[in-house]
Amino acid sequence: MKIRDVRACQPHSADAPPDWRSSLGQILVSIETSDAIVGFGVGGGGAASVHVIGAVFREMLVGREVEPVELHFERLYRASLAYVRKGLVIMALSGIDLALWDLRGKAAGKPIHELLGGAKHHRMPMYASLGQDPAQAVAQGYQAVKLHLPPVHTEAERKLVLTTVQQARQDIGPHVRLMTDAFMNWDVLSALALAGPFAELGVEWLEEPLAPDDFIGYAELSRRTSIPIAGGEHEYTAAGFRELAERRLHAILQPDVTWCGGMTELVKIYKIATEHGLKVCPHRGAEIWALHAIAALEPHDPLPEASRQWITWLIGQPQPEHGWITVPSQPGFGVEVEEATLMSSLG
Ligand SMILES: [Mg+2]
Repeated sequence: MKIRDVRACQPHSADAPPDWRSSLGQILVSIETSDAIVGFGVGGGGAASVHVIGAVFREMLVGREVEPVELHFERLYRASLAYVRKGLVIMALSGIDLALWDLRGKAAGKPIHELLGGAKHHRMPMYASLGQDPAQAVAQGYQAVKLHLPPVHTEAERKLVLTTVQQARQDIGPHVRLMTDAFMNWDVLSALALAGPFAELGVEWLEEPLAPDDFIGYAELSRRTSIPIAGGEHEYTAAGFRELAERRLHAILQPDVTWCGGMTELVKIYKIATEHGLKVCPHRGAEIWALHAIAALEPHDPLPEASRQWITWLIGQPQPEHGWITVPSQPGFGVEVEEATLMSSLG
């Protein structure tokens, strides 16, 4: 089965967040084969990413065999290594790799989780995210919630954040799992000051308190706090995650499969986590692209992050049911792209 064409676009989505059209813009990658099977994947990087695929990667793929899928990532990664090891181009490669994995599954007539060794659980509990009212999320059936916390640099801001987390714990009771996300907006001092009180409140992890490149800060935090530090949604490739693991900067790795290099790299990241005794909890885990891996791979600790319903042009995405989600069993990732999007965006 040979690759006949590779196309990428940034489909319109009415509910897309403001960053949808720019830096975080999710792109659709479509790969057609000589057997008339079409694979779909999602990557990041918006219009610039679409350009890179059309201008650089497309001609490196057309005419080649689909298998082995993993070698394409290696080849394209090496071809762009001199100018990009992280960021936008890896986001583009993620979409290509996921489309190739979709082809692999469709050609074999098997869902991706089966290719990854088989789902240990098909139905998995999700955690609520993105600023949702925690009590409301619990009322909807969620047994785990994550609070998105504002920037903290002053004593007054620390007090305010602590009050927010105390209130959340009070609202959801002692048994619902509670996590926190600082989205790279704190400093070491604030993270250290809040880590102890958070641990007493049973906070399960503190996510991305510092900028991703602040390795010295993360090393200090990991050394001096008992609360697990989570991160990695802004890290790229297995090589990047190996460094996080070897330096023991995070207890929980959170790769985003549509940004970090696709399924090929996510499989390696799970292996790195196993070797280093770390957990993996992929960013946006309830979206279809990571869900198969969460269902199947070791270390197995399924807790997909409830998705923003921002990709409206896919058909067959599993819908949340009272805080739970079920991985589909159709071949490939189990989703197709709606006809209107194919016609208008891919031309
Ligand atoms: Mg986050």
